[in-house]
Formats: sequence, C-alpha cells, structure tokens
Amino acid sequence: MTVVHDVSSRPRHPEKAHRPDTPVVKKPDWIRVKAPVSRGYAETAAIVRANGLHTVCEEAGCPNIGECWEQKHATFMIMGDTCTRACAFCNVKTGLPGPLDAGEPARVAQATATLGLRHVVVTSVDRDDLDDGGAAHFAAVIRAIRAQCPGTTIEVLTPDFLRKDGAVETVVEARPDVFNHNLETVPSKYLAVRPGARYFASIRLLQRVKEIDPATFTKSGIMVGLGEERHEILQVMDDLRAADVDFLTIGQYLQPTRKHHPVIRFIRPDEFKGYETTAYAKGFLMVASSPLTRSSHHAGDDFARLKAARDARAR
Ligand code: SF4
Repeated sequence: MTVVHDVSSRPRHPEKAHRPDTPVVKKPDWIRVKAPVSRGYAETAAIVRANGLHTVCEEAGCPNIGECWEQKHATFMIMGDTCTRACAFCNVKTGLPGPLDAGEPARVAQATATLGLRHVVVTSVDRDDLDDGGAAHFAAVIRAIRAQCPGTTIEVLTPDFLRKDGAVETVVEARPDVFNHNLETVPSKYLAVRPGARYFASIRLLQRVKEIDPATFTKSGIMVGLGEERHEILQVMDDLRAADVDFLTIGQYLQPTRKHHPVIRFIRPDEFKGYETTAYAKGFLMVASSPLTRSSHHAGDDFARLKAARDARAR
C-alpha cells in the first residue's frame, strides 16, 4: 500500500491512507508535457520562494508547469497549503490549516509585479474553518494587487464558500475581472469525487456573481475521464449557461497518486473538440477544451479573447 508524504514526512493525504491503491494507467500519446528545466522555470520558482508563497501549479502537481513557468505564469494559492476538504481528485494536502497570514496580500502583489504578470490568477485552499471561508482575505489580495499593479487584470478561482453567507459578495465587491469557480465534475460524480461540495450550491454561486455585478466575467471548469457520460456533460453546459457563465474549461483528469480517484478513460482530442463546438453552440463566450486544459492555463491570452468576444457580441 502506498502512502504519500510531504517534505516534512507527514502523510500528505491521511484521509486517503486507508484506501486501496488504484492502478495508475499509462498516459496516451496525446498527453505530452514540457519538462520543468528551463531558465524561466527556475526564475519563477525563485520569485515564488522569495515571497514565501504557494502555487497550485506545484501543490496540485499540474502537468503544464514546465510550459507555464518558463513564461513566468504562476497561479498563486493563498491561505496556506493545507485544505479543509478532501476531494478525491486533488493533490493538495488535507488537514487543519494554520492562521491566515496578514502579510500574504502584499507578497502576492509583490510577486505579481516581479513576475511582470499582465493577468494574474489567484486561487486558494478551502477554508471551511474560517467564518467567511477566507472571502475577506481574497478581497485583500485583490486590493493589494490593484494598488501595486494597476495595469494587471485579476482572476480569482475560489472555493464554493458553502454555508458562508456574504462571502461571495465580499469577493465580488473587490472587483476581480474574472470570477472562476470550478464545478470539477458532473452532479452524479459529486459524492465520489467532490464529497464536501454541492452541485447546486456551486451553480448558484456562479449565478450570484452575475447578479451582483453583471460586468464581471464568470468562468467554470470540469475534468473529464472520471466516468461521466456525454449527456451529463451537455447537461452541465446547460446549467452553466442558465447561470449566465461566460467561459467553460474542459480538461482530462489525471490521477495524482494511487490513493486518488482512478482515471476511468482518456478522452480523445477529437472528443474534446466536439465538446468545444457544442459549448460554443450553447452560447459560451469562450471555451477551452483539450486534454491539458486547466483553469489557469493560458489565462492571460484567454482573458483578452474573452473581452474581445464580449465586445463583438455587443456590437
Ligand atoms: S496550467 Fe495553471 S496551475 Fe498549471 S502550471 Fe499553468 S498556471 Fe499553474
């Protein structure tokens, strides 16, 4: 039986230790990633470390890190490296997090400036232990970036703030340019994949963002290959459009360790293309659908296209 440890040799996923190992299936030829060996990668890593920050790129074991960090595109993960949830797909450590770091907003802003990011993505662990789920901290990070990097557009990728009244309002009132919240999977897979979350609550959160500020772009994403059916994905698209979500991302689920949910199937590139075509037909302003699509992959370029798409539709 495999037990995965972090650098301090504590089990990284104590809640998954009792689970039987599941086989890690060999990746198909169409999933090939760039090795993280470039000079840009090393420089990005040095800036992240110098500012004492965490990134989801590293914590989630993102396959795109070699490509993104070469271009100094890192996605900051705020409020610590330990999550209060234990989703079956996610490699972020589970446990009881420490207190919030009041200096973190300024350091995220400083790292954004040093990396020269024109578009920055900020995500977080789930903080169910906090009264507001960390919403005020998100808002403080947004304000700090605005103050230090006025030309930089800001995208937040938030938790679901389940049972945290007023949290979504707090984040939206800080005026991020893009509010992203991932559904992660189809409703029938929630119990197995995202047991602490509720599908309807996530849809409602996205809808609420638009109700508060219709100018904010909204974005959501799912992973495929977890055993979902095609018709379920089409239903998710309809639900997101009913909530007026602008941007949909669809990517292949990859299993972080033998203790995580197995990959049920590798979806072929032509199937991803088919989902993209269907999603555009359903009215999304932007769709990114490919095996290696991740929420924050090419987020800066995609934001420019998103704005152009909205402008074109308004004409
Ligand atoms: S796709 Fe996102 S999470 Fe992955 S390396 Fe790029 S910026 Fe980081």
